[in-house]
Amino acid sequence: MKNYGFTTTILHNDRQKGIEHGSLHKPIHTSVTFGYADARQLASVFQGKEPGFRYGRQGNPTVAALEDKVSKMEQGVGTICFATGMGAIGAVFQALLRAGDHVVSSSFLFGNTNSLWQTVAGQGVGVDFVDATDVANVAAALKPETRMVFVETIANPRTQIADLKRIGELCAERGILYIVDNTMTSPYLFRPKDVGAGLVVNALTKSIGGHGNALGGALTDTGAYDWTRFPNIFENYKKNPSVQWGLVQIRAKALRDFGASLAPEAAHHIAVGAETLALRMDRTSANARALAEMLEADERVAAVYYPGLESHPQHGIAAELFKDFGSLLSFELKEGIDCFDYLNKLKLAIPTSNLGDTRTLVIPVSHTIFYEMGPERRASMGIADSLIRVSVGIEDTADLIADFKSALD
Ligand SMILES: *Cc1c(COP(=O)(O)O)cnc(C)c1O
Repeated sequence: MKNYGFTTTILHNDRQKGIEHGSLHKPIHTSVTFGYADARQLASVFQGKEPGFRYGRQGNPTVAALEDKVSKMEQGVGTICFATGMGAIGAVFQALLRAGDHVVSSSFLFGNTNSLWQTVAGQGVGVDFVDATDVANVAAALKPETRMVFVETIANPRTQIADLKRIGELCAERGILYIVDNTMTSPYLFRPKDVGAGLVVNALTKSIGGHGNALGGALTDTGAYDWTRFPNIFENYKKNPSVQWGLVQIRAKALRDFGASLAPEAAHHIAVGAETLALRMDRTSANARALAEMLEADERVAAVYYPGLESHPQHGIAAELFKDFGSLLSFELKEGIDCFDYLNKLKLAIPTSNLGDTRTLVIPVSHTIFYEMGPERRASMGIADSLIRVSVGIEDTADLIADFKSALD
C-alpha cells in the first residue's frame, strides 16, 4: 500500500487483500478448522510449505487480519495475537527462555507482569529488576547469559519512562533481545522499532481496542533483532529465513502449545476499535494534560505524575520520543484526605481497573491492583498508599475537570 498516514492505513488495510462479498469489515470466521479439497494441499499447509489455516488455536482469518493491522501500526515484519496482553507477555517467556538464562526487567511494571516474573524466577531463570529510567542500571545488571531486557514505555501507574533509546543502543551492542511493552503509548504515539526494540508487546485490551469490550494482546517482531544471535532457537525452526525465527518459534511453542488464542469475535471488536485509535489518543492526551495541570495547581493535591508536565522527571525524553503524552496519570492527595472518600464523590470517573477505555476510570492502586505485592515492593516502585491512577477518557474536557475539581471541593 502507498505511504498513507496512520489512520488511512488502518482503515483500508483489510481491503488491500480483498474481502469476501465486498464486505467492508473482515468477517468473523468462527470455524475451528479449515478444510482442503486436495489432501496434498492440507499436508503442505501443515508442513508450512504454503500459507493457509489449519486449526483455530494456531491462527484464524479474522485474527490474521488484525495481526496484519498491528504489524502495519508498528511497522513490523509480523505479529501474533493472543487472548490477552498477559498471554502475549507469557508467550515470550514460554517460547524463548530456558533454565539458566538471565533477564533484566524494569522494576516499574504492570502488576501482573511483575507477578509473572516471580513465576519465571521460580523456574530457574535469573531475573533482575532495575530502575530502567537510567541505562547505566541496565548495563550494570547484564551478564553473559542475559537473553533479554524488558521495559514498559510509560510505566503504569507511576508513569516512569524507561531510558528507551539508550537501552536500545546497549542491547544492539551486546546482541541482546530488547522487548518493549508499548501499551501505554500505543503505536500511534510511539514506535519502539525506532529505538531498536526487537519485540513489541501491545495489550490490545487497552487503547488499541479502546472500548473495554474485548480482551486481547499482540507481539510484533520489528525486524530489528538478528535472531542468529539468539541461542534458544530450536533447529527445526531455523528452516525459514532468520528474520522469521522468533515468531515461528513463538507461534508453535507458546500459542500452539499453551493455547492462549485470541477469539475471532474479540479480534473483530478490537479491529473496529483500532480504526479510531489516533482520534481517541489525541483526545485522551489533551484531556489528561488539562486534568494533570488542574490537579498540579490545586493545593489539596500532594503530587501529580504525568509525562506531559514539566515537573515530570522524564518529561524531556517523553517530549523527544512520543507524539503526545498519553491518557495515563496518577496523583496523591494531601494527608488528611481519604482517597476512598474522594473517589466516592466523583460522578463521571468510574472506580474500576482497566485502562485505555473511552470512559475515564480511576483506581486506588495500593488497595487493589498492587495490593498482593505488599508494602515493600510497592515502596520500591514509588507507590504511595493514597495514589490514585486515572485512565483518562474522551469525555468533554470541561465536564471531566469539573468532576475532579468538585470532588476536591
Ligand atoms: C493491561 C496491561 C497488560 C496486560 O493486558 P491484559 O489484556 O489485561 O492481559 C500488559 N501490560 C500493560 C502495560 C498493561 O497495561
